[in-house]
Amino acid sequence: MTKSIIDRTIGFPLGGVEETQVAFSTPLGAGLYSYARRENPTVASCERAIAKIEMAQLCLLTSSGMAAINVSLSIFNDPNDSRPWIFPADVYSGTKQYAIEVLHAQRGVNVKFADPAGQASTTINLISAIDRDPPAGVFVEPVSNPLLDVIDIPAVVEAAHRHGAMVIVDNTFATAYLFHPLDADVDIVMHSATKYLGGHNNILAGAICVNDANLYARILMHRNTIGSVLSPDDAGRLHTQLHTFSLRVAQQNSSAIRIAEYLDNHAGVAKVRYPGLASHHNYKLAQKMFGQRGFGAMITFDLARDEEGSSRFVDALSPNIPHIGSLGDVTTSFLNVQACFGEPYDASTIRLSVGIEPVEQIIASLDTALCDGSAG
Ligand code: PLP
Repeated sequence: MTKSIIDRTIGFPLGGVEETQVAFSTPLGAGLYSYARRENPTVASCERAIAKIEMAQLCLLTSSGMAAINVSLSIFNDPNDSRPWIFPADVYSGTKQYAIEVLHAQRGVNVKFADPAGQASTTINLISAIDRDPPAGVFVEPVSNPLLDVIDIPAVVEAAHRHGAMVIVDNTFATAYLFHPLDADVDIVMHSATKYLGGHNNILAGAICVNDANLYARILMHRNTIGSVLSPDDAGRLHTQLHTFSLRVAQQNSSAIRIAEYLDNHAGVAKVRYPGLASHHNYKLAQKMFGQRGFGAMITFDLARDEEGSSRFVDALSPNIPHIGSLGDVTTSFLNVQACFGEPYDASTIRLSVGIEPVEQIIASLDTALCDGSAG
């Protein structure tokens, strides 16, 4: 039986002076709670559950995925270090904006983006950027949002560590079901727990996982100082929803491959980007990194339609599959990528987040929309 008692305590009863000093100063609080901005038992319990899922020693929850990105990167901001922080070209647009507007414009961090995939692969471009201008750190997604490039994390880690650089991985899209970046020697793994970890489109949260106690202490210090911890209520709900994480994501992965194959064979679809299709440029790499577990539950595809026809597709699909700017939910959803992220994405590009409904039902909804209003 699962127990769900939420401890909403903010200020915890303190012992004597010596114990109080320990509670407020040691990274793990020596098992002592002091103030909820620093740590709370309900939040800590959910953190232990996520650490187990991510096969990490330690985890810290934040108020959103962006807060997790902010904390993970902020601990390395050093005004005396001019080495770059390198990001892939196709990184989540919120991360790109954060890197440009906050890290670079406000904090003077030397931010660099590797070249877009083009002829070479994203991995090759990242490694060339690392070797060309040895960085302080690299931020990377194993499966990129929204174009679903797969990046060879062990190869990127090898190149980065050769130069003494840190590697932070955003594992939101790949999920801990498919891939454990810490096994590949990555330094920090973060998630938008809003997505697959939560899985029900009802909690905004972030998670940061590490194996290194020193990094954990720095992250905890930063989270406490800026105050971007997750609330006990959200942590309690997130913890409950984690019980079905593997079941949900296994189902989502197995449906996604069938849907990708269906889309790949449909005349109304010009191109399907799904790492589980043999035609995907990273198919072999995805097999190597994810083993037999699957290829993810995100599918990005281009409609064989012009802008107006693509807009009609959105109208035709949204009564059956919600058009929303999130993903990872048990309910299938989709997004017109350009409408949300803008240029350089094409008006015909659709990102589908596969849920747990019967796969035939999802395919029937897509089929109706693809046939609706014919190609334009
Ligand atoms: N990382 C990825 C890959 C995302 O897709 C998102 C949000 O869509 C985030 C981070 C940011 O997460 P949140 O919306 O929980 O702040």
